Amino acid sequence: MKIDYKGKKALVRVDFNVPLDSNFNITDDTRIRGALPTIRHILDNGGAAILMSHLGRPTKKLLPDGSIDKEKFTLNHVVGHLSELLNVKVKFCNELVGDKAQKMAAGLQPGEVLVLENTRFEPGETKGDESLAKQLAKLGDVYVNDAFGTAHRAHASTTTVAQFFGKGEKEFGFLMDAEVKAAQKMLRNPPRPLTAIIGGAKVSDKILLLERLIDFVDNLLIGGGMAYTFVKAQGGNVGKSLVEEDKQELALTLLEKAKNKGVQLLLPEDSAIADQFDNSAKVSSANSHAIPDGWMGLDIGEKARKAYAGVVHDSKAILWNGPMGVFEMDNFAAGTKAIAKAVAKATQKGAFSLVGGGDSVAAVNQMGLADEISHVSTGGGAMLEFLEGKELPGIKAIEE
Ligand code: AMP
Repeated sequence: MKIDYKGKKALVRVDFNVPLDSNFNITDDTRIRGALPTIRHILDNGGAAILMSHLGRPTKKLLPDGSIDKEKFTLNHVVGHLSELLNVKVKFCNELVGDKAQKMAAGLQPGEVLVLENTRFEPGETKGDESLAKQLAKLGDVYVNDAFGTAHRAHASTTTVAQFFGKGEKEFGFLMDAEVKAAQKMLRNPPRPLTAIIGGAKVSDKILLLERLIDFVDNLLIGGGMAYTFVKAQGGNVGKSLVEEDKQELALTLLEKAKNKGVQLLLPEDSAIADQFDNSAKVSSANSHAIPDGWMGLDIGEKARKAYAGVVHDSKAILWNGPMGVFEMDNFAAGTKAIAKAVAKATQKGAFSLVGGGDSVAAVNQMGLADEISHVSTGGGAMLEFLEGKELPGIKAIEE
């Protein structure tokens, strides 16, 4: 971070969208911890921090009378824990903008922290409303965006607000900067061979990503439910595995494109199969092209795990998005776990690894391997869009 924060009030967009239990206790504070280095940097350099974030989707879960459930979605839920983590008594304003917010922001002294109310209590937030952004901009002298998870949304607090700050008055926080650098390294100048491992439920969710990856990866390993659309398109028998009938032609086009570009595209040779979509279902294994009728592939099989781990092992850059199977069910988590271990091992040997996308990140965290990956992304959708080659409005707004 380059701005001189001495005597300045920094308006900081953070991602404090943390999960809460029914008593509003934070059940996972990863996102809050992720923002601490940026907040501390501002305070340590003589500035004050005005923090804004969304929490949940308050406008999607209105009270019976049509109003916002402020008790449930107030950002005040994070204030106590943030105070403990920072060792600073954090102030809270129950408005995002307005007289009170202005007064509290104006009175803030160096070293102090103010949390504003949930950005999504204001209808203008998700619309990227200019007058809301202008009111927000008035609260701070400089603007910092450290919320990579919402960088793909052109909201008032993530994007529009930045236009009211000139060059040198806005920058990325440390978390955002690390995300952008990791993704850029993967896209622009990755060490090779570069292997992408793509899993998850459906081809349709990742068409753009797959198309784009074929342009620049050396190996593309496909797992998860989406593999069966490819296998079926090739004429395989996949039983009652998840198949998107209308994506078979696309699957064939992708296979052809990979061949023409010299990309090694692998599908799982074998699968862990079940007679039902259930952890207590009967389990067996089969060649992925010969899954018996009435059975479905719910994880990559042992041969596939070995083959994929071998490719990962020989890679210098690894990009992983999406689980290899229904990893939420213990019986079908082995493929995802094997990949997580292989990526960690390759990283230990010096490969650069980036894990992005909610479920693969969850798998890596569950296995306690996050520290053994070069970069674990905090922004599922944002990272996906970045890797697809889209320009993220929250990033562009800082850079222009
Ligand atoms: P995505 O959000 O696209 O990364 O997909 C993640 C979801 O895909 C997880 O909830 C997995 O349970 C699911 N999934 C992975 N493999 C399979 C499979 N073989 N059949 C059905 N669902 C799967």
